[in-house]
Amino acid sequence: MRLSQYFIPTLKENPTEAQIVSHRLMLRAGMIRQASAGIYSWLPLGYRVLKKIEQVVREEQDRAGCQEMLMPTIQSADLWRESGRYDDYGPEMLRIRDRHDRDMLFGPTNEEQITQIVRDNIKSYKDMPKLLYHIQWKFRDEVRPRFGVMRGREFLMKDAYSFDLDSAGARRSYNRFFVCYMRTFERLGLKAVPVRADTGPIGGNLSHEFLILADTGESEIGCHADFIDMDLRGADLDYDNEDDMQRTVDHVTSLYAAVDEQRDEETEKSLGDKLKVQRGIEVGHIFSFGTKYTAAMGAVVNGPDGESTELECGSYGIGVSRLVAGIIEASHDENGIIWPESVAPFKVGLINLKANDEDCTSACDDLYKRLTKAGVEVLYDDREGRAGVKFADMDLIGLPWQLIIGPRGLKSGVVELKNRQSSERQEISIDEAFAQLAG
Ligand code: ATP
Ligand code: MG
Repeated sequence: MRLSQYFIPTLKENPTEAQIVSHRLMLRAGMIRQASAGIYSWLPLGYRVLKKIEQVVREEQDRAGCQEMLMPTIQSADLWRESGRYDDYGPEMLRIRDRHDRDMLFGPTNEEQITQIVRDNIKSYKDMPKLLYHIQWKFRDEVRPRFGVMRGREFLMKDAYSFDLDSAGARRSYNRFFVCYMRTFERLGLKAVPVRADTGPIGGNLSHEFLILADTGESEIGCHADFIDMDLRGADLDYDNEDDMQRTVDHVTSLYAAVDEQRDEETEKSLGDKLKVQRGIEVGHIFSFGTKYTAAMGAVVNGPDGESTELECGSYGIGVSRLVAGIIEASHDENGIIWPESVAPFKVGLINLKANDEDCTSACDDLYKRLTKAGVEVLYDDREGRAGVKFADMDLIGLPWQLIIGPRGLKSGVVELKNRQSSERQEISIDEAFAQLAG
């Protein structure tokens, strides 16, 4: 993409409405614009990141054996009357009436919808278990939408649902998602802490929230100091063996045994001077809630003995749009965003230092074509203008690599490759730069 043609309305000044760094940087880098309170348009640069994150989440759901589908945003109120949640949900639910005076709603979540689908289409134990997910926009009329897409009213969520014959099966499904979440957040370059959580209005018995540590987080957790430096990547994160998975989950949760959303005094005391109080951002949440919805909505299958059995369920959310902001909170410096390569909108920013110099421009154009052809995503700053402005813009946007080409270097056959994260710079030949980026 040529920057001269790209729709990327960057801002030099800090927007006054933004209180946290991710919101400021998303506005300044031209990623989002507010449509109304808590509702945002995703401009091209922001939308690329959103889709990248969505894709990592999707790949890891698929790997865990979860099947993607798509349910609607608009749901019927009658469905929610079946579970009893239409009245319980309160003013966070956006209620709508259609032209026939039927009550509808913009879904804040999809337990009822998926339970109806399973109830109407699965009749036998032989079709169990089922793990299903979709990635779809939600609406919650939050009291205080704030911090940009971090706490929006309209937001993108991955929500998965598990259906099992019995509680042992439900536990296996829960473990599977637990492992899946560890894998997902690791691929996104994040350290996510699984914290025992209240099951809240969804109800049920087993639940963990996944929090990434950041000073601007809305939740406070007391944490074992060793955890902060602990590398989880040693954990065995595959799905080959159900027993191994239970071990992995037990192991990981034992590391966080002292971590508690409630910050209860007893655990804090037991930690002594190992207690570290941190703030965190909730990026995922998993629940096992038994037969709460299937019982209310009559979702049963015929068991092996011919008896009908209520299905055991869980639901598993990831805040896809919140993650865009969460990753920025976790990865930025005073000059701008630092994207992990897995979700970067482009891999490299190619900077032409002298767009009015014919040789320099033709070298840049060539390399841009070669890289693009090799499948490397390049944002090419082909604008005329001061180098300082270009460097500042590229740092703000935060692509993992910057390839800087100027007439002086070209004369001696070198270009400069800068790593945004480490600020390390290498002077190398065009071919070496190509090989490094395309390799
Ligand atoms: P919170 O406690 O932050 O309000 P929640 O517990 O109500 O979130 P869940 O129902 O668990 O949220 O939804 C699953 C995930 O969706 C959350 O872990 C979070 O990442 C994301 N999410 C929830 N509410 C919002 C929101 N208003 N804006 C953006 N993402 C959200
Ligand atoms: Mg939650």
